[in-house]
Amino acid sequence: MGSTETAAGRLSALRALHRELDACRRCPAMAGPVVHGEAVLSPLLLIGQAPGPHEGALGRPFAWTAGRTLFRWFESAGASETQVRGRVYLAAVARCFPGKARSGGDRKPGPQEIGNCREYLRAEADLLEPKLVIPVGALAIEQVLGHKVALAQVVGRVLEGELFGHRCELLCLPHPSGASTWHKGQPGQRLLAEALRQLAEHPEWRRALDRRAQPKPSSNAGGR
Ligand code: SF4
Repeated sequence: MGSTETAAGRLSALRALHRELDACRRCPAMAGPVVHGEAVLSPLLLIGQAPGPHEGALGRPFAWTAGRTLFRWFESAGASETQVRGRVYLAAVARCFPGKARSGGDRKPGPQEIGNCREYLRAEADLLEPKLVIPVGALAIEQVLGHKVALAQVVGRVLEGELFGHRCELLCLPHPSGASTWHKGQPGQRLLAEALRQLAEHPEWRRALDRRAQPKPSSNAGGR
């Protein structure tokens, strides 16, 4: 593993962490394989809840219906899915599909599973030292804030906070799952629109998008 003082060293450490994640079998009740995003050195860290039943086969987070909604939200904040996947570090409270709950929806990760996977999140935060953290959904928000909070109290505001001792700003979003109705009624709809407006204008979001959006002189313009 290279020195984590340099960008190359941090990227190498992030890739090594992904290899550790890929091999992780700490949680016996988890149903799915490990799913994680790309190893991007980004000041933007998004934290989802857990992959659903399809992401394991597709090999990337937010690859199904909730993801389509989430990326539609990000389109409205000026970033395509390709840009987000390549410029935002996509993490989660748990990296394996927990299986179905008796009620029929996806099971929420349990406290032990959250605790197990939190060590990976801590390592990612230490490597990335994120400037803007985007927890998506009530469980991720609770994990970042350290306590439960009503979505209406935090969505639509940029908060000062920290993640594992790293000072950062927090921009909370509701979960985009079809089962969640909060963002379809009021005040959820209005607060989500405000959150996405704040995201579109946030300097870290704009900087990450602008920096890599610069076409390289010899590359294909518009290459994906
Ligand atoms: S949820 Fe996290 S800690 Fe648990 S088995 Fe999957 S990767 Fe490992």
